[in-house]
Amino acid sequence: MLLRRCCCNNERKRLKASISLPTDFQHTIHTTFDPDSQRFVGLPPQWQSLLAQPGDRPRPKPIVEGEEPSDAEVWTFLESLGPIPDDEFVEYRTSIAQLGSIDLRAAQLEIQWQESELGLRSLSFYDTLTRNRLRNVEGGADEFDTFRRQLSSIVSRNDDPHTRLEKFIKIGEGSTGIVCKAVEKMTGRVVAVKKMDLRKQQRRELLFNEVVIMRDYPHAHIVQMYDTYLVEDELWVVMEYVEGGALTDVVTKMRMDESHIAAVCKACLKALAYLHSQGVIHRDIKSDSILLSTTGQVKISDFGFCAQVCPEVPKRRSLVGTPYWMAPEVISRLPYGPEVDIWSLGVMMIEMVEGEPPYFNEPPLQAMRRIRDMLPPMFKEAHKVSSKFLTFVERALVRDPLQRASAFELLQHPFLKQAAPPSSLLTLLKGYRHSVC
Ligand code: ATP
Ligand code: MG
Repeated sequence: MLLRRCCCNNERKRLKASISLPTDFQHTIHTTFDPDSQRFVGLPPQWQSLLAQPGDRPRPKPIVEGEEPSDAEVWTFLESLGPIPDDEFVEYRTSIAQLGSIDLRAAQLEIQWQESELGLRSLSFYDTLTRNRLRNVEGGADEFDTFRRQLSSIVSRNDDPHTRLEKFIKIGEGSTGIVCKAVEKMTGRVVAVKKMDLRKQQRRELLFNEVVIMRDYPHAHIVQMYDTYLVEDELWVVMEYVEGGALTDVVTKMRMDESHIAAVCKACLKALAYLHSQGVIHRDIKSDSILLSTTGQVKISDFGFCAQVCPEVPKRRSLVGTPYWMAPEVISRLPYGPEVDIWSLGVMMIEMVEGEPPYFNEPPLQAMRRIRDMLPPMFKEAHKVSSKFLTFVERALVRDPLQRASAFELLQHPFLKQAAPPSSLLTLLKGYRHSVC
């Protein structure tokens, strides 16, 4: 397109007509083909979905054991079916908890592959439970109002966020809600806004975490929260926009070398050492919960599933986390503490080398069974990693939580000495995201 400079109004008017329509317009997209993964890299999302391969599947969702059904309810249900061996109880329990955490269609698909009586029985139980829950919701208006009032008393602002924020663009979606990018009208600062519908939560009391954890535990390696609002029946969390996206994109698209991995681990361990010293367990550490800024800063996000321990309540029991990253003690339904985050971090180290966690080609319940019953997982090609890295991972993936290294202990490990500076993580982002760097 040609636009000649001009100096007077008449001249400008005359020239307007001479601005031509774009000719020979080209929208260049930098796409390459990765022979290793046999996939195109850098395609726009709408093309990517057209080329989706049968093996592609959505990221696994976290399991959140609901308040219902209680162990007693499950027992009553199982007893009604006849004698059940003790060790099968955990599987039923897990399966039912999982049904409660995903929508029914997904649950049916999940059960199709299981093709087992367990799946069918769980589904029938879930059906009954859903009907009961619906009845509760109809009659539970007062309870909802009480919850809404409690939440509104702890959010940081009571005004309308639309007066301060504009240009909302959806950038992500998770099991609790959607995440948008928005712009602060006054300052022009770009922020991220996580919007969660109070009525669509598995355990709505967990929304208190979204309000208080980032607020009360500020840290260089934890996403910073700015404000919280209650907008009709939605909780909005306005936070720092971490523009590089989730570590998942890096592990699935790029090869990270050990200095990059050490840098990510060091930052995560600093945040975890701080959280654990305060009795906070994250419970959903995985590459999806780690965000990268365009300066290469590493930030832990997504505190929706955390739990607090204290001297009076030193252990937690509920089945919470994402299957492939769950520690054996969580799956075995043993009381657990902050050590579960270290196991998940160990699994994330395998993700950073292999692009996915162990047992990822297996269905979630099968993977959980393997984590529960087998020796700790290790790299498929252990000879390709350094001995320092190997011992580092081995200290995290210890089945007995009492023997597993703490965040403090891992921070002293010689492997972290080779951590690259944050700026070097930029080269990874640049490898596949031309737009952010
Ligand atoms: P899930 O329960 O499935 O883990 P969720 O509902 O808790 O998800 P988040 O994981 O917090 O939601 O966010 C969903 C996605 O939105 C993230 O994977 C990330 O891509 C994006 N996102 C979240 N927070 C930010 C942020 N502060 N800056 C940039 N992107 C973000
Ligand atoms: Mg998440």
